[in-house]
Amino acid sequence: MRIRVVGAGTMGRGIAQWAVTAGHTVELADARPEAVADAVAFVHAMLERAVAKGRTSRAAADRARAALVPLDSPYDAASGSAHDGTAPELVIEAVLEDLDVKVELFTGLERTLPAATVFATNTSSLSVTRIGARLDDPGRLAGLHFFNPVPLMKLVEVVPGTATRAGVTELLTALVADSGHRPVTVADTPGFLVNHAGRGLVTEAFALLEESVAGHPALDRIARDVLGLRMGPFELMDLTGLDVTASVMDTVWDGFRHADRLRPSYLPANRLAAGLYGRKSRRGFYAYGEGEAGPSLPEPLIEGGDPARAVRVTGSELAAPATPHEPGDDALVLVPTWGTSVAAAVAEQGLPAERTLGVDPLSLDTPRRVLAITPATGEDAVRDAVAVLARDGHAVTVVRDTAGSVAQRLLASIVNVATGIAERGIAEPDDIDVAVTLGLGYPRGPLAWGDGVCAARMLTLLRALHTETGDPRYRPTPWLTHRACLGLPLSTPMPRLPE
Ligand code: NAD
Repeated sequence: MRIRVVGAGTMGRGIAQWAVTAGHTVELADARPEAVADAVAFVHAMLERAVAKGRTSRAAADRARAALVPLDSPYDAASGSAHDGTAPELVIEAVLEDLDVKVELFTGLERTLPAATVFATNTSSLSVTRIGARLDDPGRLAGLHFFNPVPLMKLVEVVPGTATRAGVTELLTALVADSGHRPVTVADTPGFLVNHAGRGLVTEAFALLEESVAGHPALDRIARDVLGLRMGPFELMDLTGLDVTASVMDTVWDGFRHADRLRPSYLPANRLAAGLYGRKSRRGFYAYGEGEAGPSLPEPLIEGGDPARAVRVTGSELAAPATPHEPGDDALVLVPTWGTSVAAAVAEQGLPAERTLGVDPLSLDTPRRVLAITPATGEDAVRDAVAVLARDGHAVTVVRDTAGSVAQRLLASIVNVATGIAERGIAEPDDIDVAVTLGLGYPRGPLAWGDGVCAARMLTLLRALHTETGDPRYRPTPWLTHRACLGLPLSTPMPRLPE
């Protein structure tokens, strides 16, 4: 296919590299000629690197190199620009993220390129329908949302706008699939799929920080070691840039008319005013200067506890750790909470507050156990409980008591937000799981993750969180509730209605 890529910045050059490598001819244009020259040099260097690493042959790299055609202007007419008189079949736009700039580009292209040329926008936050609405022919435009870096990030969201003509989505889907990436069809909604799904983790992480449940290093450690995420949410925001994350949080929340489940935090505003963007400003949640540890901070050491102290465990979630002593009057009481707090358990079960602590059952078989303390917990009880839980080589993180503990809340939010995406028909359930694993790098898709814990248990967790906090953020979606009640997997699609 002959593809014109307009915008030769971070994304445009990645898209160009991907497309020439897949055998397409790419015309590359930008408002700044030097950006085109830079991008061409970049793609050439990437092709050379691929040859050096044995990932591609010399002949294939030379072919790809010859298929990259720099243009003087995005608006070059087909006959003048394309060197062999052929018009591009597709334009992929990756210019500035601004509605007016994108509309001006496409209306200019409408005047110079044949009516059959399909237009695709790589916008991450604008409505595809709104861009199309200002064209003479909105039917020719769809979203084609790549992720950075394009050659490595295999996912592409194909986003038909309200007016996109039949056939355009299919053409883009086939192009992506035939060129080695994974297309998912996504409805034209704020954040599309991946940026919407990603709100589950970061909004809940901020909520935990707002409530002082733990500091961000502890929250990151729990996300990594208990949930198995490659990066904790704060580490991730430092990498992405808090300005970018905060803007996506606001766009998605505004776009969904302040849906409680997507509620952002008040915390980013002052951090941004103070320049704490993350890695790019060398200070964010962590410091990245010379000699700074970044996210690999040393863990606080809690020493001096008695690993042999007797322990009693409430409920049946958890076997009591074997101790040399029978639990007597001074035994520690461990409460495996599920969507509830230790404080509520103390009140409901008449437990001795000063020696009762919570333990997150999600954390038990992971490298890190999470212990929750209340304002009534005694210091000796904390030290002893850490020593007991650390006895078989586990790391232990102590957090303040909250309904559901840290990992449960993060997971509940990830899964509930994903079921909201399914419920709104934004994407097919299987595509949601594929897109989140490829686009966000989670160890499992959120629906499969919820099923791994068990849909019914996820429902109990969300209902308990909702009941104890009264916060509508935790209201389980009807999608999740119904599947849990029916004993079906969360990935079960919507039933078809008779025509
Ligand atoms: P960038 O700033 O690196 O590159 C933008 C390029 O567009 C620049 O070279 C600029 O000169 C050029 N440009 C601006 N106005 C133009 C015009 N009217 N005509 C021709 N060229 C013009 O930006 P980027 O990060 O590559 O982002 C481009 C688009 O891709 C944006 O819509 C962005 O939201 C989207 N996007 C970015 C990412 C990302 O991670 N960077 C991911 C997905 C989507």
